[in-house]
Amino acid sequence: MSYVDEVFARVVAQNPAQPEFHQAVQEVLNSLRIVIERNEEAYRRDALLERLTTPERQILFRVPWVDDKGQVQVNNGYRVQFNGAIGPYKGGLRFHPSVNLGVIKFLGFEQVFKNSLTGLPIGGGKGGSDFDPKGKSDREIMAFCQSFMNELYKHIGQDVDVPAGDIGVGAREIGYLFGQYKRLRNAYEAGVLTGKGLSYGGSLARKQATGYGLLYMTEELLRWNGKELFGKTVAVSGAGNVAIYAIEKAWQLGAKPVTCSDSSGWIYDPDGIDVALLKDVKEVRRARLTAYAEARPNAEYHPGKGVWTAKCDIALPCATQNELLLDDAKALVANGCFAVLEGANMPTSLDATEYLQSNGVLFCPGKASNAGGVATSALEMSQNSERLSWSFEEVDAKLKGIMVNIFHNMDDAARQYGMEGNYVAGANIAGFLKVADAMIAQGIV
Ligand code: NDP
Repeated sequence: MSYVDEVFARVVAQNPAQPEFHQAVQEVLNSLRIVIERNEEAYRRDALLERLTTPERQILFRVPWVDDKGQVQVNNGYRVQFNGAIGPYKGGLRFHPSVNLGVIKFLGFEQVFKNSLTGLPIGGGKGGSDFDPKGKSDREIMAFCQSFMNELYKHIGQDVDVPAGDIGVGAREIGYLFGQYKRLRNAYEAGVLTGKGLSYGGSLARKQATGYGLLYMTEELLRWNGKELFGKTVAVSGAGNVAIYAIEKAWQLGAKPVTCSDSSGWIYDPDGIDVALLKDVKEVRRARLTAYAEARPNAEYHPGKGVWTAKCDIALPCATQNELLLDDAKALVANGCFAVLEGANMPTSLDATEYLQSNGVLFCPGKASNAGGVATSALEMSQNSERLSWSFEEVDAKLKGIMVNIFHNMDDAARQYGMEGNYVAGANIAGFLKVADAMIAQGIV
């Protein structure tokens, strides 16, 4: 058995019932085969892949809190510090009922390669809870966040581990988490969390960064492949932080975004998605997409799944993992879609990815195309260290430069290993080489 297959079998055996984690490891290891084979003896002796697929530390904790009726509720809390070879652990917190240890491990594992690809000094980690913020009052959210931080604060710090937002964790949650951290530590350590509000150490353009970065990547990838974004129809899934700012930037770059979705249904708007209305529905009113349809007579609301049946040139999945499956890939190809770039983490299943690639669709994995969020978080950390704030334009320009750079790093890596245009392989290889190098240099730790 090859070293790669041996390690994958070990991961499956040692981490039972964690299918998302297996999926993420399988994708990465498969595309590393050629790199590993060239240096197999040394990697084997150092157990490099075993160490790379085993988190450095996994913290599991109880999160008790009191709801508005006076009832005590209990949720599970997680922080997985996956790999700190190139910098402090960095990665978001996800609050969603689907969260379990396997989901957090898949996200943490992906984060290691993503953070490496940004070129910035950040290791990989991820955390969260099965807490569902939907329908909770602000006081309940605060009570939960404070209780979550009562344990998490022992394990994080600006040079140790720096959490941020993800699904279900936005500016409101980060604010409550930061307030409790400050209180417990009795110190103003701004760089301990990113995605903060602008009044207390946040960075301009962080809120927009993942969605904007996705579109900067799209523009560069298309340009490099002799195509252009201008004038194209774009299908977006999700209606959260990533989706909203992907839609906004798509408009700004001359494309027409026609869809968005949430966990109840999806919108097709033939006139293009009204961003101001979408922000009002999701960011201000925290309402469902039915409220969008009510305000836009031309827009169609479809309950359930199906967003990938909309005709588009470019598809940007920006909701969650495994939301673009084989049948969706077939529908996209049949409708003439020529590029898929992931805004979410692992939204495309392995068989759907293969189908898209083998049908000539340009495909960019999330660890490259959604890296603008964490990259701008690292810029927030830099500003916190300097005790300075950069202008929106300055941060946005740096973000764009980072996305273009990531594209060329992954394109070069794919080319160097004879897999030109295979951006999955390119992103995994480029991300891996830097982390592997640092791990080897630091000895057996
Ligand atoms: P938000 O919570 O702001 O939005 C998530 C969106 O996806 C919502 O519209 C939500 O609908 C929908 N969604 C979530 N879970 C499901 C589900 N199981 N089925 C269908 N729809 C679902 O999260 P973000 O926009 O921040 O994150 C979206 C994705 O992007 C995630 O994969 C995240 O890991 C990734 N990402 C985020 C970054 C960031 O900076 N925020 C950075 C890099 C990646 P509903 O409201 O109905 O639940």
